[in-house]
Amino acid sequence: MKLHTKLLIALVAGFAAGAVAHAYGGVPAVDFLGAQILRPIGQIFLRLIFMTVVPMVFAALVIGVYELGREHGLGGAAGRTLLFTMFLSATSVVLGMLLVNAIRPGANLPVRPAADTAAVQRLETNAAAAKPLSDVLIELIPRRGERESPNPEQDAAVGQPFRAAERNLLVRFFDQIFDACMRIVGWAMLAAPLAVFAIVFNTAREFGTDIFQALLLYVITVVAGLLLQALLVYAPLLRVVGRRSPLAFLRDVREVVVYAFSTASSNATLPLSLKVAETKLQLSPRISRFVLTVGSTANQNGTALFEGVTLLFLAQVYALDLTFGQQIRVMVMSIVAGIGTAGVPGGSLPMILIVAQSVGIPAEGMGLILGVDRFLDMCRTAVNVTGDLVIAALVDKRSGPIGAQRAPV
Ligand code: ASP
Repeated sequence: MKLHTKLLIALVAGFAAGAVAHAYGGVPAVDFLGAQILRPIGQIFLRLIFMTVVPMVFAALVIGVYELGREHGLGGAAGRTLLFTMFLSATSVVLGMLLVNAIRPGANLPVRPAADTAAVQRLETNAAAAKPLSDVLIELIPRRGERESPNPEQDAAVGQPFRAAERNLLVRFFDQIFDACMRIVGWAMLAAPLAVFAIVFNTAREFGTDIFQALLLYVITVVAGLLLQALLVYAPLLRVVGRRSPLAFLRDVREVVVYAFSTASSNATLPLSLKVAETKLQLSPRISRFVLTVGSTANQNGTALFEGVTLLFLAQVYALDLTFGQQIRVMVMSIVAGIGTAGVPGGSLPMILIVAQSVGIPAEGMGLILGVDRFLDMCRTAVNVTGDLVIAALVDKRSGPIGAQRAPV
């Protein structure tokens, strides 16, 4: 059986069993199974993956930048990555905002679930510690001093002994690190179906399905926006710019989508995306390693859409009439917040709080959506990761000779 089929079965079974377990919450055997057996299984698996992420990202970036710089210069691929990131984030936020204005899920909300004050307070602490949005934008551009040495002659002299052989050794070293990480991920993937079952079981056991009824229109708005982003933006771009069949693309990346959905973490999905980009999509490793590692934190189209929809939804709940100017502000800030969001479960929540406060939406509003957030997190993460792979395919296609020359994997 293929990995994506196993993951899908684990996902559906986990949801179903978890929903039943929610109904039997308080029964000692059920709670024991969830908290003492399945929770550690899921956590150990995720830790194993996270353990590989830092060395893998570092090695992938070193190799990617070296390879790109050696041939055509990094500028082209990096520039296109940035351009596509901005464009895709903007389309998704606009789509979401159009939908939330049309559906108005926050007007006449039938039930107001009690706000979870402790959780909101935790978020407020996180938000206070987060970087201001302006810094997120500024940090996209390297400082002059970081790129240009103040003493080029001395650097040239130091650089002389750094001969090609040593450079190759260094690149080979990072290549080995990357391959070792890939191997660990390969082993971890053997346990992925069990881990996905465990993670999804506990999510469903904890949150149940009741909350969805009260917030159904809001959930539908977010999910519809995410689907439209895939259908109206990704698919045509892949077809026209990437000259690939969107359906074949989806078939190739489906295991990544299911995995991202289950873990709700772009970072945890990165190793699998890197593997699929090289093996299934047949992208040039030097392009895909660069684009995917940068994209896993910077390109979060699903998150940007979710942030725009949630902010306007909360404004509707509190009957705040945002002016056109304020809506534009929400739009721009959602794009930037999407770029600045960490690729971890719930990474966007502190960002939303920052933007909410800046347009006068009460922080307690976040308490309303926390119950459905995990499910929406799963959906938006699947889109975030798909967006990264789409950009990698587009940048690879447009990179001419670099994309055409496949480095040995
Ligand atoms: N969980 C998302 C990701 O990892 C981030 C978020 O929207 O909270 O991509």
